[in-house]
Amino acid sequence: MVTIKSKKEIEQMKEACKVTGLLYRELEKMIKPGISTAELDKFAEDLIRKNGGVPAQKGYPSGMRGVPNFPATLCVSVNDEVIHGIPSKKAILKDGDVVSIDCVVWKDGFHGDAARTFIVGEGSKEAKRLVEVTKQAFFEGIKMAKPGNRIGDISSTIGEFVENHGYSVVREFQGHGIGREMHEDPGIPNYGKPGRGLRLEPGMTLAVEPMVIAGRRNILQLDDGWTIITEDGSLAAHYENTILITEKEPEILTL
Ligand code: MG
Repeated sequence: MVTIKSKKEIEQMKEACKVTGLLYRELEKMIKPGISTAELDKFAEDLIRKNGGVPAQKGYPSGMRGVPNFPATLCVSVNDEVIHGIPSKKAILKDGDVVSIDCVVWKDGFHGDAARTFIVGEGSKEAKRLVEVTKQAFFEGIKMAKPGNRIGDISSTIGEFVENHGYSVVREFQGHGIGREMHEDPGIPNYGKPGRGLRLEPGMTLAVEPMVIAGRRNILQLDDGWTIITEDGSLAAHYENTILITEKEPEILTL
């Protein structure tokens, strides 16, 4: 169901989104060689709870028989891992790693969802370009996020921008509406045709999230039932914010 948020609901939702934004500003300072992804996860959970939130991804059902609920606060996906990587004490970051982190905060009835990709240390030229193009794809996409435009205008803009830079977008996963539920309608693919899909209206809140692969778009899932990796072993990056459709430009709630 597509939900249009009232003024009051938007104010409440902004509180959850603020915690998500704060989390990434703090996490960025911690991304250094030698830290484990489990340490990042512990830090994130503490920060969220201290700020009155709840880590919404922790305990999220897999929907697959025999696959346990997601065990952590953060999804941390390193290098050829695209999304849904599980933090681990054994996963120690090293110089040059490309680290995608995705997190949803729940607070006072609403969700704030965002993702960032960080590079540990300096990083290669290729890694930097991939991360920058992924982030820019989000900003290009949301230029279309205005009343009267359609979801397909956002999707096609992201997809074309990414492919014009020689990269691929993941097609099996997509952005989504967000609010009281973590995942609401509509789905927001990172590819498609302009002029198609739901018409945007003020009060809609959307999680727009390009997932970009440096090589071919094919993905695989690891035996843990969660982690998605690139089939060709190439690097992947992810960038996401929760946005609000307004009468004019969209408002980014999780920066
Ligand atoms: Mg997310």
